[in-house]
Amino acid sequence: MNLKIYNYLTRKKEPFKPIKKGSVGFYACGPTVYDYAHIGNLRTYVFEDVLKRVLEVSGFKVKEIMNITDIEDKIIAGAKKAGKNIDDFSKPYKKAFFEDLNKLNIKKSWKYPEATKHIPEMVKMAEKLLQKKIAYQAKDGIYFNISKFKSYGQLANPKPSDRKDFVIWKYAKKGEPFWKSPFGPGRPGWHLECSAMSMRYLGASFDIHAGGVDLLFPHHENEIAQSEGATGKRFVKYFVEGEHLLVDGNKMSKSLGNVFTLRDLACRGFNPIAFRYLALSANYRSRLNFTWESLEAAQVALDRLYEFIFSLHQNSSFSSRLTLPRNSGGSDASQKIKSFGLNFQKAIFDDLNTTKALAVIWQLIKDYNKSASRRTQKYAPKEVLSALYGFDEILGLGFKNLKAKSPSEIALKLLKERERARKTRDFKKADRIRERIRRLGWQVNDTPTGSNLNPVTSHD
Ligand SMILES: [Zn+2]
Repeated sequence: MNLKIYNYLTRKKEPFKPIKKGSVGFYACGPTVYDYAHIGNLRTYVFEDVLKRVLEVSGFKVKEIMNITDIEDKIIAGAKKAGKNIDDFSKPYKKAFFEDLNKLNIKKSWKYPEATKHIPEMVKMAEKLLQKKIAYQAKDGIYFNISKFKSYGQLANPKPSDRKDFVIWKYAKKGEPFWKSPFGPGRPGWHLECSAMSMRYLGASFDIHAGGVDLLFPHHENEIAQSEGATGKRFVKYFVEGEHLLVDGNKMSKSLGNVFTLRDLACRGFNPIAFRYLALSANYRSRLNFTWESLEAAQVALDRLYEFIFSLHQNSSFSSRLTLPRNSGGSDASQKIKSFGLNFQKAIFDDLNTTKALAVIWQLIKDYNKSASRRTQKYAPKEVLSALYGFDEILGLGFKNLKAKSPSEIALKLLKERERARKTRDFKKADRIRERIRRLGWQVNDTPTGSNLNPVTSHD
């Protein structure tokens, strides 16, 4: 089966065919480290992770780069306000960014180049554009002359009034960090950073450039202009962009107070993977409306999935001890698992339709539960488990991590988290955690000497 992906260059779903057989060059715009990543950024990183996983499962060697923008206007302004140098200012956000990726089961990229460590490459590119007279010197910096690049607008097709020359190198202002260059001290423009770093590791032409739709214009358009202007070669084959995340139907903004980070979610007692589940529940090219209710629903769904996997574990270890009759795991059920697998693959390979892929999992679970009352067509728990593990190679919901743990271990860990929440009188969070514990099959008892767990009985 071949992956089809929506390419913003052609505005069509296209079969994915890499430039070089067997390997994929993949560049994703990373964070500007002046603040914590918000859930809109994280949604984009999750979809890029799914794309990378699909390519890897398809047998490609994926060279994925995610840059770290550590010099930019917002960083300079933030550092100034905090009275720090830019390194000290951005360091905690950089660290937090990697923690977020980890908590969301996002696989490590090949490289995470930092802009401040690639200034020579950026200077070289600016020099080339000056030599070719596609760029010119102005009072405050070096600018790209879009009238000298005939195919400007090929990606985003912006309105004529939005087509403007843009800065590629800003001359140093008093009190701002700067680097030396043949055309005067200054710092790179944001667009130039991505052009130079992607080409440094992936060459003049590579396969996939990903980001959020808000980067389509001017960021990605300008990257194309700089790169193709400098090399005369096609920069990127597929531009893949993830849609916006809204909060309660609105765009996230500081003034509305609806900019949330992964920390905010954890503070309310949610598992970060519940956010990953929520992101996967909508196709990456449709808008996702985040509400606390939708996150709650995602948490419940995730807990049910985990519970199902725990029960498969119990049943599969049981069957190996007891040697159940051979008709368990009969060929009818195996055949069914195969067809669920095929449907899952079809969904994912059709422009990463994770909504459908999750639906296939729920259909499988439903059919499994129904089959328990059937005499024939019984599923072998082990076979179902291995199918789910296969799906999770792409979804990354942490199914395999459950193998090492038991529901009671997870419940105990959650109980401690709940105790901490109660100590800080965060009762909303404590209640949410109690519900999660309950879904694992345990009832919390609060006593004067502390809390303990009892198995949920049918009377509860
Ligand atoms: Zn970028």
